[in-house]
Amino acid sequence: MSHNGSFSFEFFPPRSEEAAARFAQTRRALLPLQPDYVSVTFGAGGSTRDLTLDTVTTLAREGDVPVAPHISCIGATATSLRELLDAYRSLGIRRLVALRGDLPSGMGDAPGEFRYASDLVAFIRRETGDWFHLEVAAYPEVHPQARSARADLDAFVRKVRAGADGAITQYFFNADAYFRFRDAAAAAGVAVPIIPGVMPITNYTQLARFSATCGAEIPRWLARRLEDFGDDLDGLRAFGLDVTLALSRRLLDGGAPGLHFYTLNRAEPTATLWQALDLDRRAEGAG
Ligand code: FAD
Repeated sequence: MSHNGSFSFEFFPPRSEEAAARFAQTRRALLPLQPDYVSVTFGAGGSTRDLTLDTVTTLAREGDVPVAPHISCIGATATSLRELLDAYRSLGIRRLVALRGDLPSGMGDAPGEFRYASDLVAFIRRETGDWFHLEVAAYPEVHPQARSARADLDAFVRKVRAGADGAITQYFFNADAYFRFRDAAAAAGVAVPIIPGVMPITNYTQLARFSATCGAEIPRWLARRLEDFGDDLDGLRAFGLDVTLALSRRLLDGGAPGLHFYTLNRAEPTATLWQALDLDRRAEGAG
């Protein structure tokens, strides 16, 4: 089966020499797959601002795959954001993932000059016109701080109206949550693509920790099955692949306009999913 749409990989900036060496191997394995773009996360509150810029610079110089830095506004000033936008423009970057972000604990709750991602999207459009293709975040299972599902959908619609070209979702394991969110957004007038984010399952403890903070639900049957693997990491990975592959197929068959893979800077799970979904043929068709 061949798929049209946007297929992208997400990386995070490595924080040590050892992590940087591992990340170089990951890039060598994943960039030849020719995703539509790769994105690089950003630590809100400035904690990894330079690391993100360095990683983006490396990726932009190294390959022919477009790079989309994540940029967040919580705790940022207009001046610091302007500088960052200028730096990305001068690197020839044409895509961004625009987020509010979360302040690291200990930084208080002062939001700074920007309160929500919609403020950031509007600011980027005011400052740079149509230079950047802007993605924003979407939450099929509802953002953990939202007052209600309805309020969260309204906030999403506002963010898209402020000038987003597309959205990437938080990961989820329940395809119906995605389809219902997509349909509700369409009914509210959203016409931009909403790309599901896909999280590989390779480590249950880490997945449970992430999911608790970002509000992604691990269904009971899945949690119980994953617990059973204990130290059997190979068994867990094989089962995890099966689950994410079935989810990805269901999403694409149901009309999802692409997939965004949270690689966690590891090549193997994403490359295996890519092959199993036959996405190479898409690259051949496009090239
Ligand atoms: P917003 O869209 O601003 O929403 C935040 C909350 O405010 C929601 O509960 C929303 O319902 C509510 N809200 C929005 N507007 C209003 C309004 N006008 N009135 C009342 N309530 C409102 N975090 C990082 O720090 N770095 C990253 O690189 C990063 N990458 C991410 C990539 C993806 C694809 C996703 C899905 C998330 C990512 N995050 C990242 C996490 C994200 O920053 C957090 O989820 C954050 O808490 C919310 O960011 P947002 O852009 O969705 O915020």
